[in-house]
Amino acid sequence: SPSGPRKPIRRLDESAQNRIAAGEVVERPASAVKELAENSLDAGARRIEITLADGGRTLIRVADDGHGIPHDQLELALERHATSKTDGEDLLDIGSFGFRGEALPSIAAVSRFTLTSRAESAEEAWTLRCDAGRLGRPTPAALPRGTVAEARDLFHATPARLKFLRTDRAETQAAADMVRRLAMAAPQVGFVLRDATGAEGTEGRVLFRADPEPGSPQEARRARLARILGRAFEADALEIEAEREGLRLTGLAALPTHSRGAAVAQFLFVNGRPVRDKLLTGALRAAYSDVLHSGRHPAAALYLDCDPHLVDVNVHPAKTEVRFRAPGIARGLVVSALRHALAAAGHRSSATVGT
Ligand code: ADP
Ligand code: MG
Repeated sequence: SPSGPRKPIRRLDESAQNRIAAGEVVERPASAVKELAENSLDAGARRIEITLADGGRTLIRVADDGHGIPHDQLELALERHATSKTDGEDLLDIGSFGFRGEALPSIAAVSRFTLTSRAESAEEAWTLRCDAGRLGRPTPAALPRGTVAEARDLFHATPARLKFLRTDRAETQAAADMVRRLAMAAPQVGFVLRDATGAEGTEGRVLFRADPEPGSPQEARRARLARILGRAFEADALEIEAEREGLRLTGLAALPTHSRGAAVAQFLFVNGRPVRDKLLTGALRAAYSDVLHSGRHPAAALYLDCDPHLVDVNVHPAKTEVRFRAPGIARGLVVSALRHALAAAGHRSSATVGT
């Protein structure tokens, strides 16, 4: 009991450390999908194929055509705080999605995990199994290129966590939402999401597909938003482009007539990362407060870009929360840019434009 005699301090073994960390990094199948697909993006993949079964409970597979992992580094990839993406010097100036070196060890600690990879210019592929944190040895495998990360029976080693999962349908939807957000962040990359529940020997049913968008980064992004949010949204949306004190805001925001009954169509990105940020969603709500009834939510896809030192993405292991150095400026930029766009479209008297 908490008031019993004092016990000596002991260091937890690595598998216990990984299971504890897994609680923060992989909350549900969608978070594993996010981490694995982000690794694919960091590896320069042009195509990412994601397969789920039973809401991700029995299978999550992410296959990419990225630069792969050299065979002598496979074991290191599953080690905690081992990363090829930073030397740890400047944790604010990070150009990749990953940098904590926590995702693979965490997922491997709570699933039956296999990592198969063929490094660029390598003659063969190798695979490494890890069952609930128990690491095997790398063995040769067949894979034309890239990396396949496969997590089976997620949380079988942590049954308490299993109980918190929602229905297969809800978990699949959450994963699909995550894939859509990443697809909006990386329009030049092709994504396929399949549901292979009960699909023995077949690839499964396509839930979402977006081929790589051609053209300039701006053209590609616009085409990707149209594909995901619908032509109707894209055709009527207000084009947002504004800048203030080193912060740059771009994207599309819907007319008030395209509002939704729930905040399901709000997509926010900070320095290329999909984020869920109260400050930014609050600013979005404030910008539309005069033109939307309460209970209605504006649809928008907004991209905020700034010097990496103006925003900290290392707030939470899932990296979906950010902290701005000057939150007032970020909020003010979003509110004023959207209000100006609404006013210009005749949805607000310009006399009330301001922050
Ligand atoms: P992080 O992404 O924070 O570095 P991870 O645990 O997600 O940590 O991955 C550990 C390392 O494994 C990465 O730094 C990268 O070198 C390698 N890796 C993981 N997934 C892939 C992939 N799909 N393609 C190439 N390398 C990968
Ligand atoms: Mg990662």
